[in-house]
Amino acid sequence: MEFPYARIVPEDEYDRAYDYAVPETLRAAVVPGMKVRIPLRRSETTGIVIESMKESGFDRLRSIISLVGKEPVVPPSLFALARWLADYYCAPLALALRCVLPEPVRKETSALTRLWVAPREGVTEEEAVRVLGKAKRQLEAWRYLREQEGGWLAELMAAGFGRAVWQGLHDRSLAVIAPAARERDPLADLPIQPHPPHDLNAAQQAALAAVEEERAHPPEKRRPILLHGVTGSGKTEVYLRAIASVLDAGKSALLIVPEIALTPQVIDRFRARFFGRPVGVAALHSRLSRGERRDQWERIRSGRARIVIGARSAVFAPLENVGLIVVDEEHEPSYKQEEAPYYHGRDLAVLRGHLEGAAVILGSATPSLESFHNAQTGKYRLVKLASRAADRPMPTVHVVDLRQARRQEGAPAAAPLLSPRLREAVTARLEKGEQVLLYLNRRGHSTALQCPECGHVENCPRCSVAMTYHRSDQRLRCHLCDGVAPIPSVCPQCRSPGYRYSGQGTQKVEEAVSQAFPAARLQRLDSDTLRGKEAPYQALAAFARREIDILVGTQMIAKGLDFPGVTCVGVIGVDGALQIPDFRAGERVFHQLMQVAGRAGRGDRKGEVFIQTRTPFHPAIQYARHHDYDGFAEQELDFRRQLNFPPFRRAILVRWRGRSEEKTRFVAEQVAKRIVSLVSAVTPLEGGEIAPAPVARVDDRFRFHLLLLVEKAAAAARALRPLLDEPAWPDEVQMSIDVDPLSLA
Ligand code: ADP
Ligand code: ZN
Ligand code: ZN
Repeated sequence: MEFPYARIVPEDEYDRAYDYAVPETLRAAVVPGMKVRIPLRRSETTGIVIESMKESGFDRLRSIISLVGKEPVVPPSLFALARWLADYYCAPLALALRCVLPEPVRKETSALTRLWVAPREGVTEEEAVRVLGKAKRQLEAWRYLREQEGGWLAELMAAGFGRAVWQGLHDRSLAVIAPAARERDPLADLPIQPHPPHDLNAAQQAALAAVEEERAHPPEKRRPILLHGVTGSGKTEVYLRAIASVLDAGKSALLIVPEIALTPQVIDRFRARFFGRPVGVAALHSRLSRGERRDQWERIRSGRARIVIGARSAVFAPLENVGLIVVDEEHEPSYKQEEAPYYHGRDLAVLRGHLEGAAVILGSATPSLESFHNAQTGKYRLVKLASRAADRPMPTVHVVDLRQARRQEGAPAAAPLLSPRLREAVTARLEKGEQVLLYLNRRGHSTALQCPECGHVENCPRCSVAMTYHRSDQRLRCHLCDGVAPIPSVCPQCRSPGYRYSGQGTQKVEEAVSQAFPAARLQRLDSDTLRGKEAPYQALAAFARREIDILVGTQMIAKGLDFPGVTCVGVIGVDGALQIPDFRAGERVFHQLMQVAGRAGRGDRKGEVFIQTRTPFHPAIQYARHHDYDGFAEQELDFRRQLNFPPFRRAILVRWRGRSEEKTRFVAEQVAKRIVSLVSAVTPLEGGEIAPAPVARVDDRFRFHLLLLVEKAAAAARALRPLLDEPAWPDEVQMSIDVDPLSLA
């Protein structure tokens, strides 16, 4: 079919689309996903075709100028995924395409950046000096090139050597300039340590067999597998085997892991396993440079890399012929993108598997209740690994009642950060040369500055939250708007001079720990201490090399890390996190406790875990204590069912924000009425009252929320579409729609 019109998203305006006429000569080639050159306002740019059309509602359209490339830049399968994303998450298609085509790929690459300059092999320093004689600049350039082992022409030019210099080296046979003959592979320099496969135990074998069975099913009968395996049960080994088998069948494989788990060690484990196979492993994570990202994308797109390991956005990796998609730690909240488009990486992975006929494994020691529910209703196939691989026992979990600890200590004003019991255990472990993890839920501890006399809390002037105390620069900082303020010397309200920090952030814990164990090598790991992309990975690597005895940290240390030297895990406190007004608070704390406990005793010594709390009988704590996932899930699902909360109903959260409280509320109320009528026409609905957001003001903008609980989220999202295409309220109020929200903030 050839169409006279096309709808196109310009590369720089990924939230808008425009219609163009298609010249007759181009009609056969202009298909969705194709990149084209177009006139836009007074200049030219490139854009992606999103739709071919028989007619357009506009007249006097401008024409497409030419094609860029011969093939669509977006493979058809990914185009379908983007469409589905836009549809289900009620987002503009253009925004969905932005996910599919990362920015470095989207931007038209000039010919220059695609030229690779390599030093000619075997040329010695003397030879170069002889050939170049007095051409000092060229000699410098040649040395630089040799040092860099080659580079993209554009980058070499940016390094200060003009094009003529490189051309000169090329002409004198000292360098070779050729189109994209090489690419940066950030993995290329890492040494490979062989990683021989384990012999699978019976449970692992059964899991692998289930994957094979699902792969053999026809697409309409194929179900995603929920691999529920306790921490250390050898899930990764199952992934590796399943991937190997998919590769043997000539297909490709995608493994999605939380960003923080993408350590060089993990990536290495995969490369080592598949070393020697002509398949190529590409890793996609946030530490890649722009150029590396583009190169990886192209390696994948061209089929040179057939295994992709990546964080959330890797679900859009341009792999073809995908045989298997694995989502590890599928319960991880970080798979949800917390900005538009608000997609969930795990759910997109399931969908992609469905669209492309690939098998899907969702793995976790603590499946999300959504996935667990899907397994109960038969939508997913549940496979269990009930015990640790190689017969390592689960750690013993002790609950330390801080109220009691306090009574015993002769009631000091505040409970101690480290209870005597935890302190003793840590001491004993350190004496044996073993390692300790101390975990703190950031939300569980106040880092606010509060006056001990009148209780005054210093709030951010632009947001309705308390500012947090930062010891390193002796200032108050707002974690929402990044605003900073000096610390007042006396209380602004009652002028009390006793006004100083008394909270319990990781800094405070670090202090207490270093006082309690002065001889221990201590490292704190949280997003405040370790700025910079590499720092956390270096700290984790040092811990793995056992150059650190005690690692103190927040959520970052709880995820999927395998440190055989850790025998003791202390949970400093989680009480605050249990009190957050969100129906998932209990589930989150339970997951964290199970995960962090799972870090203990992975080596040849049994581990133990101490949970310090003032609410020892909270279900999240009690079930975690007994490693009882099923028990927790059952009671939590019961509670959700009674309240019609997800997964029984689907949630849609609509948010508004604006500078004027009155205007924002007014718009929210008006639009909410329309939303309720649009949605209730297609699916049963509960909720519909506008309320100020839990944090009612952020960065000087007032925020209002509307939470809907619906039976059919897809139908509801479709019904809301018209709101998106023709917003009927003033620009100063912004609205966003979050389908299946994870955070209610
Ligand atoms: P998970 O991903 O479930 O947390 P891993 O795959 O990291 O677990 O395995 C935990 C530990 O057990 C690793 O050190 C791994 O090398 C080891 N392991 C895995 N499978 C086996 C097996 N079949 N026999 C012996 N050790 C195994
Ligand atoms: Zn005061
Ligand atoms: Zn603020």
